[in-house]
Amino acid sequence: MTANSRYRSRAPRSDDGEEKDYVGFATLPNQVHRKSVKKGFDFTLMVAGESGLGKSTLVNSLFLTDLHKDRKLLNAEERISQTVEIMKHTVDIEEKGVKLKLTIVDTPGFGDAVNNTECWRAVTDYIDQQFEHYFRDESGLNRKNIQDNRVHCCLYFIPPFGHGLRPVDIEFMKALQDKVNVVPLIAKADCLTPSEIKKLKERLREEIDKYGIKIYQFPDCDSDEDEEFKRQDKELKESTPFAVIGSNTVVEARGQRVRGRLYPWGIVEVENPAHCDFVKLRTILIRTHMHDLKDITSDCHYENYRAQCIQTMTRMRCFYLQRERVLFYVGRRVSFSQVW
Ligand code: GDP
Repeated sequence: MTANSRYRSRAPRSDDGEEKDYVGFATLPNQVHRKSVKKGFDFTLMVAGESGLGKSTLVNSLFLTDLHKDRKLLNAEERISQTVEIMKHTVDIEEKGVKLKLTIVDTPGFGDAVNNTECWRAVTDYIDQQFEHYFRDESGLNRKNIQDNRVHCCLYFIPPFGHGLRPVDIEFMKALQDKVNVVPLIAKADCLTPSEIKKLKERLREEIDKYGIKIYQFPDCDSDEDEEFKRQDKELKESTPFAVIGSNTVVEARGQRVRGRLYPWGIVEVENPAHCDFVKLRTILIRTHMHDLKDITSDCHYENYRAQCIQTMTRMRCFYLQRERVLFYVGRRVSFSQVW
């Protein structure tokens, strides 16, 4: 867009070439677009689930970047004694001039111990800490350069081997549901046949309902959207929890180089909708709902945290005020009795 066209964009002209009834606020979206692109975007994604479920591989497949180059894999003995750690990786990626600062928060050690009681605590503490930093920065003097590290989405990996949710899955999602947008996934979906995936999805949906777990809800699409968009939106919603496959290798399938897993009996293609829901997950996470995930983080989860903080601060202030008043009166009575 040239500077001139930006100034004149979409000005309707009458037959004699004059601009008629045109104020110019129709260019507002262009201004917002330019400003946002210049500023760049950020997104923080958390991945959780026990080790070996393919979290790192899926993130690499999603963003086509190797975020876990220097990862040290622990042996069984080390894993037993390991506590849940939080690890953060940040990469700056650029696509067609649009910059994205992507932060991946990994939770190694989650669900790996023999006793997993309250193993979600480290994760909820981390999310709260990010809210606390933001709250402090936002209430401070220099509000211009606030670093926003709030977690916008948590991909929770459910093993494909069980018959539904395990107690640790229920506890984890319930502990996180009011703090972050939880998106449950069926990991390593290539271990299941299509009918097994269908059955497991139904079971998981039933259990999510039964235990009152609040997972990320796709917003309803606007009534003026076109029919094709509405159909895709419905299909996306019906496919949850997404059954995903990840791969770090490129293989040859049907004369094309694709990301996939090569087995003696054939190839599983990560981006083939007939094989898994990877493309659907990528669509909601990056192409259609990234902004909504950020909005809900800011407008619901952070607002809840902020309201709680303010309530606690107000209660504490009342308590100290009352205590000071009591001390003042006690002090006056003491000095009064001393005079007499
Ligand atoms: P993480 O510990 O959860 O980060 O798991 P990794 O991404 O390191 O994967 C553990 C192992 O599972 C590796 O050998 C991967 O190649 C393999 N893996 C990753 N994704 C899949 C998948 O979708 N299907 C299958 N069958 N194996 C996978």
